[in-house]
This record gives sequence, C-alpha cells and structure tokens, in this order.
Amino acid sequence: MSPILHKSIERKARRIDDPIARLQYLKRRMATASAPAALWNYRKLPAIGLVLLLAIVLSPGYKASSAEQSLPPPRIPHISAPAGASVAKVWLVDKSNDFETYSNGLRIDDRYAISNQSRLFYPVYKRSAVDPDQPEWRSEPAGIVYHTTESDQVPFDQGQNGALKRIGHQVLSYVRQNHCYHFFIDRFGQVFRVVEESDVAFHAGNSIWADDQVVYVNLNSSFLGIAFETQTQRGQDLASANPAQVHAARVLTEMLRSKYNIPAANCVTHAQVSVNPDNMLVGYHTDWAGNFPFLDVGLSDNYGAPPASIYAFGFEYDPVFVHATGVRMWEGLTLAEDQLRIQAAARGLPISKYRSLLRKKYKEVLAAVKAVNEARENDHAT
Ligand SMILES: [Zn+2]
Repeated sequence: MSPILHKSIERKARRIDDPIARLQYLKRRMATASAPAALWNYRKLPAIGLVLLLAIVLSPGYKASSAEQSLPPPRIPHISAPAGASVAKVWLVDKSNDFETYSNGLRIDDRYAISNQSRLFYPVYKRSAVDPDQPEWRSEPAGIVYHTTESDQVPFDQGQNGALKRIGHQVLSYVRQNHCYHFFIDRFGQVFRVVEESDVAFHAGNSIWADDQVVYVNLNSSFLGIAFETQTQRGQDLASANPAQVHAARVLTEMLRSKYNIPAANCVTHAQVSVNPDNMLVGYHTDWAGNFPFLDVGLSDNYGAPPASIYAFGFEYDPVFVHATGVRMWEGLTLAEDQLRIQAAARGLPISKYRSLLRKKYKEVLAAVKAVNEARENDHAT
C-alpha cells in the first residue's frame, strides 16, 4: 500500500469520532493489505501499522493475556524523546504576599495557598530490579501529573462572564478544601497555587510511573498535580482546554521543570498513571486520557511512553479504557506489552506466570508505600 493511501486512510479515520467505529473502519480498509506485509510496515510506518495492530488487538474476543500469538516481534521501547528534553532557565522576578511573577511571564496567585502534610522523603524503586525491601529515598518533586477538574462548564463567552467567574471560584474553593492539587488553572488561564509545593496533594491516588532510573508508586508525594478547569472529552484527540489555559500550563511547567530539574518524560496525565489494584486494570481515572496538548505545553508526546504499571507490575487494560483514550495512547500500551514479553522471554517464563510474579511484587511495594504514607499522616495529625 502506498504512503499516500496510508495517509488518506489515516486522515479519514481521524474524522470518525467514535474510537470503536474508527477501528472498524481501519480494519475494513487495511484488510486489503496482506498480514505479513502490514506487520512489516508496522516498523516502517508506525502510525498506520499501529492502528492495524490495535485493530487486531481490539477485535472481538481479544484477551490481553493471549496477545503474544498475534503481535509482531518485540521492540525496545524508548522512554524519553528529544523534544522537550532541555529545560529553559526560569526565575522568580517578584513576590508579594499575593502574587509571584516569573521571568517567562508566569504569574501565580498565592492568595488561596494552603499547607498539607509535608512531603519530606518518599520511596522509589530501582527500575532494573524492583525490590520492595530496597527503596531509595527522594525529597524533591520528580514529575508532574496533569488533571481535569471534570467540573461544570458554561460556554466560554463574554455573556457568561459572571457564571464563568462564579463557577471557577467554587471549584477553586473545593479543590483547596480537599487539598486536591498543587496548582489550579481556571477558564481564563489564571494560575492559582493550591497546596504548597513542599507538601503532599491528594491528586493521583493509586498510580504508577517510571523514568529511566526508578519506579514511582502512588504519586501524591513524588509528583506535583496541576488541574485544568475543564472536562476530558473521551476518545478525542483535540485538547479540551482553551489557549489561555494551555499557555498557562506551558509557563507553569517550564518554571517547575527549571526549579526541580524535572525531565519531560515525567510530565504525564492522570489517565497514564492511574491504576486500580482491586482488579489490576490501568486507567481507574481517565482524565486527559488522549487529548492532552503535550507539544503545546512544551513537552514531548508522552502518550507514546509505555506505562510502567503494565511492564513493571503486570497490570492489564480493558476495552473500556481503550474506548476512553485517544489513539495517541495506544502506542504506549503496545510498547508496554512488548516489553513485558521481552522480560518474560528473558526469564524463560510464560507471560501469565511472569505477570503473576510482577503482581505479587506490586502488592509488596504498595504495602511498603502505604506504610510510609500512614506514618506521614500520623505525623501530620499529632
Ligand atoms: Zn485526575
């Protein structure tokens, strides 16, 4: 199939809103290509090869655990991408009781800032050999998780000014009371400090991420939380934030990355990190499931990064999650499964057996992390 035809199919597919209908369309169009050639093209033409692959993966009766028969040979995933890798220097220019201004134009409203449990030290685990008994201890924020407030939305229109301001303020009060995030970006792109950067915010719940070095479990203490006053549009690629909010997120992200030396690969969305330990599925929360504007926020598109929940701890995903995400996250999911297969093969184990071992390890790590958090809560209460 010619690259031009590939492009035309891809373009048409993008216009189909419903992800399942889109996959069905792709399956139909790609049926003309022979399977071996198409899988070979998976390497040469990642975008279209990937949608074909996912069309197979998502066909009725597919089970993630039996995918090894139908997938192409594994390839080594890349964790970090060059775009967004360098951190621009940003510094504090002015600070009053109420506001901070920064050299890149960022302005933070501090009037509603509140403290919470102190971050102090949090455990991380060596990625190459996760050992619940051998944590390393860190104290600085290691990354950023982006959220949506999922709160009421009125049209962004001058005639709605009163309602926009009233709702924005109500949401700010709510997230402040509940220590939900470190920062809140309202509909006008105003940045409010909520929980102090030195403290824990309750933004990420059960969650997992990894960088090149270590694995993070439950990111409330290790990652900063930034919430956009918006709602996630499930299965969409278009960002559900307005340009003022995207600009605010960009300058805020630049400042935080500069201050804490945060790698772009550790700037991710809640949907990418959220897990449910009860059923061992990823994506318990699905905010920013597929339409976070990574590039406009000055980052690399981290939807292509494999979630550590899958390759380090044996989590799986179901069609409900795939339905909630945009196509951009599918590459990361596929890469994570590739990596799981590589690791299982290296140990001479069937995937199901290897996955059970990873899950057992996760339970041990989770227990260790919860013990640290409980100690921190007791400390804060006394
Ligand atoms: Zn969230």
